[in-house]
Amino acid sequence: MLIGMAWGTAFIVFDRPVLAAMHAVLIIFGLVLFWLAYRGRLTAAAMLAGHVLPLFIAVSCLFDNVPEGVHRATQMHFLSVALGGYFIFRRGGIYMKYVIPALCLVGFAVFSNTFIGIKDPALVIPQDVAEIGVWANTITALIELVFIVVIMNADLSTRRMMESEVRKAIANGDFVLHYQPQVDDDGAVTGAEALIRWRHAKMGDIPPFKFIPLAEETGLIVPIGNWVLRAACAQLAIWEARPETEHLTMAVNVSASQFRQPDFVQSVAEIVRLSGVNASRLKLELTESMFVDNVEATTEKMNALKAIGIVWSLDDFGTGYSSLSVLHRFPLGQIKIDKAFVHDMLTNKSNMVVTEAIIDLGDKLDLQVIAEGVETVEQLNRLREAGCRLYQGYLFSPPVDVEAFGKLLAVGVGGPELTAGRRSSAVPIDFGRAALSLKARL
Ligand code: C2E
Ligand code: CA
Ligand code: CA
Repeated sequence: MLIGMAWGTAFIVFDRPVLAAMHAVLIIFGLVLFWLAYRGRLTAAAMLAGHVLPLFIAVSCLFDNVPEGVHRATQMHFLSVALGGYFIFRRGGIYMKYVIPALCLVGFAVFSNTFIGIKDPALVIPQDVAEIGVWANTITALIELVFIVVIMNADLSTRRMMESEVRKAIANGDFVLHYQPQVDDDGAVTGAEALIRWRHAKMGDIPPFKFIPLAEETGLIVPIGNWVLRAACAQLAIWEARPETEHLTMAVNVSASQFRQPDFVQSVAEIVRLSGVNASRLKLELTESMFVDNVEATTEKMNALKAIGIVWSLDDFGTGYSSLSVLHRFPLGQIKIDKAFVHDMLTNKSNMVVTEAIIDLGDKLDLQVIAEGVETVEQLNRLREAGCRLYQGYLFSPPVDVEAFGKLLAVGVGGPELTAGRRSSAVPIDFGRAALSLKARL
């Protein structure tokens, strides 16, 4: 945007309306990127920038008609786009990570060594401006490069720091599980989803979105995931031992890299065996992204754990890119309607249609359907009307620690209109101490 404003102004002064308009487009494009970033759509913003910027630089090079004996410099911006693109998409697919940066490098080489471009003097940069432009472009492109290197370095140190902190947290026991109730049509708690929390001594509570993606990248998700599974199974064993809570199920999130571990099946089976829980009360949540490749290996792993009773649940359903065939090709027992659908259901007609279709499909395919992110009674009623029978969301309770979950089972969840027919025990159940001793045994 800054470059667009500077050059746009210069071209208005030098009476080059086409070039001024081009730079106005660059400013608008910058605004679009800001808007996307503001809406949290960072990947879309980066993808768009990765395509539009090289195109813009190439067109600008065509108009950059430098005088005899002076080298063109606009193509230097290709270098920062190539490096920035590679950095942003370093964990992405081949196309964004290699193809786009490679095309930028080709653009750099071509425009550095040839004079192809528009020759009409009325359209191109005036000669005297072009001479200053060479310096301006060289300097701004170098600033861009330095800026990217500084960001890359800062990112690397944050990562290193977080990585060592995660290792320490596993060793010190700074992770805890919170439980969010899953509720049936009568308002009775049928189970819970275990959600990890990091109690950092100095940084305070760190939400999962800040460390789970990093843990996935660095492979630390494997020890974290094993810890989560052990802790959740220990808790489930405690629930099973009490008549008031023996019916509860436990949902545990499994990340893609954890699932891909060659010994995933054995380690889950071993944890379940050691904890002594009834495996049919354990639900493992996967996301659609895991069904994209290695269909056979995925099915094999899922079947192996299904054989010991574990139920597979498809998390965030509707947000991924996989086809509906996932639903019958894989041995799933449950689908979770993503909270984004529930959130916009009442205001966005197509979200309502998709939600209804998912419920209907689940019904026809004999899959249990649970809606997550239920926040209002209106959403609950609408889901009920559509045929959904299981819910999870702030309306009932946010994820809470094990003591609060015990109290919640005793006093019930949600308002009085939701509590009719609820199963409840008379006194709050103290799971805390029992949990500690069982976790220690495991
Ligand atoms: P998720 O599996 O989709 O979990 C649901 C998230 O939605 C939780 O966020 C929960 O607190 C939040 N939530 C629950 N009810 C509502 C609601 O009514 N409205 C809204 N807006 N949000 C609601 P949380 O605990 O921050 O977890 C975020 C994500 O981190 C999880 O999304 C999951 O993908 C990941 N995660 C959490 N714990 C674990 C874990 O133990 N292992 C792995 N692999 N991932 C985990
Ligand atoms: Ca989940
Ligand atoms: Ca989810």
